[in-house]
Amino acid sequence: MAAETHFPERQRCKKCSKGLGAGGGPVFLGLFCSPRCAGLAELHTDAARAPRECRTERDGRWEFKRRYRSESEIPDRLRADPSTSWYWCTGHCGSLHIGHSRIDLTKEAFRMIQDPTDLADLLIKLRGKATRKQVAEVAGIRPIRLKELEEPGTAERVDLGALFKVLSAYRTRAGVALRNERRSATT
Ligand SMILES: [Zn+2]
Ligand SMILES: [Zn+2]
Repeated sequence: MAAETHFPERQRCKKCSKGLGAGGGPVFLGLFCSPRCAGLAELHTDAARAPRECRTERDGRWEFKRRYRSESEIPDRLRADPSTSWYWCTGHCGSLHIGHSRIDLTKEAFRMIQDPTDLADLLIKLRGKATRKQVAEVAGIRPIRLKELEEPGTAERVDLGALFKVLSAYRTRAGVALRNERRSATT
């Protein structure tokens, strides 16, 4: 099958033939003029309610991820960075988003995590381009257990046993920074 022509080469909606992206307007999945033409649900206006793939946490608040209508709109410095990846937001806004940058294991040996979001971010980065299913198989857990760890707040509780299996599959170990109160040597 021949590759489909996407915006900006494509100028008309694949479904209804209306003009695409005029005046900086949104384009959905690179092909459509509206969520409806793209077969997507109406967009959330509150980032906290949008699917995880469409939002990012900044200063403790959910914000929408930056939306790109085509690969050509992604800044060169990001596209040139081999640790950067991008994906179509097929579950919500129909745009391209920048994915998590991969961790450079030659430079980073230890990472502090303060809350479930930090842990989720770390797990997603460690997963890189592997699918949840692939990682779950190596770890010997069900993919849903990994999803719960990567998407804090979606499950009532997470499976700690699964966490350690996943960390082991990534050949990483967890640590805790202890309060370091030195006792006086004389007592
Ligand atoms: Zn349309
Ligand atoms: Zn999105």
